[in-house]
Amino acid sequence: MNLTEVYKQCFEPQLKGRYVCAKHLSPILNELEKKGTATVLGFSEEGLPIHQISFGKGPKRVLIWSQMHGNESTTTKALFDFLNFLQQNNPYSKQVQNFEESHTLLMIPLLNPDGAALYTRENSNGVDLNRDALLLTQAESRLLRKVFETFKPHLCLNLHDQRTIYGLHTGKPATISFLAPAADESRSVTDSRRDAMVLVAKMNHFLQQWIPGQVGRYDDTFNENCVGDYFQKQGTPTILFEAGHYQGDYEREKVREFLFYAFLALFDLVAVPEVPQFLVAYEAIPENNKQFRDVLLRNAQINSVMQDLAIQYTEVLQNDKIQWVPILDEAGQLRHLKGHLEMDLEGHKVLINSYENVFVNEKISTIWDKTSKKYIKFQ
Ligand SMILES: [Zn+2]
Repeated sequence: MNLTEVYKQCFEPQLKGRYVCAKHLSPILNELEKKGTATVLGFSEEGLPIHQISFGKGPKRVLIWSQMHGNESTTTKALFDFLNFLQQNNPYSKQVQNFEESHTLLMIPLLNPDGAALYTRENSNGVDLNRDALLLTQAESRLLRKVFETFKPHLCLNLHDQRTIYGLHTGKPATISFLAPAADESRSVTDSRRDAMVLVAKMNHFLQQWIPGQVGRYDDTFNENCVGDYFQKQGTPTILFEAGHYQGDYEREKVREFLFYAFLALFDLVAVPEVPQFLVAYEAIPENNKQFRDVLLRNAQINSVMQDLAIQYTEVLQNDKIQWVPILDEAGQLRHLKGHLEMDLEGHKVLINSYENVFVNEKISTIWDKTSKKYIKFQ
């Protein structure tokens, strides 16, 4: 059985799409609670339970949290796929057994249940929990800090999603980005940061077979208010994961699979060749840039001016589903940008929302091609 087939068996069908909150997790958590592997760790600002899932009984402790940003659900889906891998019979049972004896995982799959319900980055008080590591103004931040101090992890995984704007100098989208956060202003390679870099280099190496040229490295400016930077400064190796865009994958069901492979590589559950010179390998991972937009319409003629139109989707929660609403992001000479979808309008005259004008930051309902006399379909 190859790894793709193994993944299909581990795929958690109860979690799909972008909107994942407590009500979606609860049937799975109920089952785990019956088995005694899931417990309530504490409560959110709105009083929703925040769960932990445990696995393993080994000496190496790993703390993993997902959806600290409520609308960043991809890593949560991947985490449950990974959990299925650890609990099912598969050709890797021997490796799983070794892992179980060597590691203890403490997973918080939904740190921000209030934000997840509302599909917002912030919690119910509008606070970005990833800027609250020092002040600890929010219940969710205090809970994570308490777990960090009592569990005393040897490794932390800080799981997130990134926007579709991120790309790499390879000309491809940043499908997964990593960061071994800095532990100080000078971004020195401390012991814990070095350990995190080694692991990132290993995951990158393994992922190249699935997404060549689509693994990126996040900006390492130090900010102690960010949880990863704070934990790294305390001497605990910490890795930031950012799930990003893969071709056509707005529901982020493909990238979830690649994250699953990253977890297997990270924990040596699959054989990954030794990465020589980890620092060189880490720094060779291309840095994220912001070159992508969702849609680029090239060479549109509006009010006698030839210009490119960049369109960016805003995610809106409607009836428990995410709708992608197109917004005009930028207009002009946009050669420096790339579109996940690009169309050449070849100088045709167009009307946006029936106007012969451009209104940046406005929702786009229609684009009428006056020259060909038809609507331009881009969604
Ligand atoms: Zn985030």
